[in-house]
Amino acid sequence: MLSEMGQPAFRAKQIESWVWEKGVSSIDEMTNLPKTLREALKEQCSFGETIQVACQRSSDGSRKYLLQFADGTTVECVGMPSDKRLTVCASTQAGCGMGCAFCATGAAGLTRSLSAGEIFEQVAHVRDDFGTRVTGVVLMGQGEPFANYEATLSALRRLNSSNGMGIGARHLTVSTCGIIPMITRFSREPEQFTLAVSLHSAVQRTRDALMPGVRKYSLLRLYDAMGEYTSRTGRRPTYEYALIKGVNDSDEELSYLCDFCKDTLCHVNIIQLNDVPGSKFQPATVHRANDFVRRLANVGVEATIRQSRGADIDAACGQLRQRLS
Ligand code: SAH
Ligand code: SF4
Repeated sequence: MLSEMGQPAFRAKQIESWVWEKGVSSIDEMTNLPKTLREALKEQCSFGETIQVACQRSSDGSRKYLLQFADGTTVECVGMPSDKRLTVCASTQAGCGMGCAFCATGAAGLTRSLSAGEIFEQVAHVRDDFGTRVTGVVLMGQGEPFANYEATLSALRRLNSSNGMGIGARHLTVSTCGIIPMITRFSREPEQFTLAVSLHSAVQRTRDALMPGVRKYSLLRLYDAMGEYTSRTGRRPTYEYALIKGVNDSDEELSYLCDFCKDTLCHVNIIQLNDVPGSKFQPATVHRANDFVRRLANVGVEATIRQSRGADIDAACGQLRQRLS
């Protein structure tokens, strides 16, 4: 890795000496390394031991972990087995600064971004606990991947690489709340990673209220950026839409959603809102979710209802960490 970073060979010896002889517990203590290298290493590596603080097992086979890194920061990840597959949901930040109104992670704010090593480590932890190969990763745990772009991309590349985990790029999914400049940047990456965008409403005022962190990126700009993404990559993005009773489940909301998606390359994932303790939001009915799927299909838009996993183990974004902290 050091040679890939353009570093001379003696740096490896210096680092070994700090770790094995001097026993330091952070990269910042490696004072004979240039500051720029220390910063780059912090982005790439997790240093010290990762501890499993808690693990909850769902009756559907999924397992949710609370992991703690060397500096005490905790994050969540989930392993979801099915047939011969194992999908891992991993976090890209501890907490999140985007402040979505319906999200437990958003309510707690941002602690810090994770390094590429810390993102990779979560997947490795789940693989080791299940003792099977990981077939897919979704970056849908805590945090906004595109607010931590470099580390996220670097982790995806390592998960994709045959020296890493060898997971096909199409089975590596990034979910963003819609940070437009990074969607554009992502569309230029050579790998065929999969993109999901949290839409949650195609009505500007509703989306602004639900997702204040992306208020500055209008739906019109999002529409254009996604058009550019699909024409450049030829890949089908997913729009995530958590149905919230009385907020984004009306006929008007549905017709705006149909207009947003009609004649574009996309897939809509209707999500049952997970209960967040203390939240004023409630999930819409299953009946309503079916209406959404049917109406979208009528205008030629492919839509499915996401099967909720681990409902009995606080699997909703941010909940385990909140309960234990
Ligand atoms: N920050 C990224 C990825 C992490 S959140 C993003 O927002 O896309 C992963 C998904 O969980 C997003 O679609 C998010 O909107 C959704 N989510 C957050 N809180 C939820 C809740 N209470 N119920 C259902 N989905 C929720
Ligand atoms: Fe952050 Fe995603 Fe939660 Fe919004 S939904 S607060 S972007 S983790």
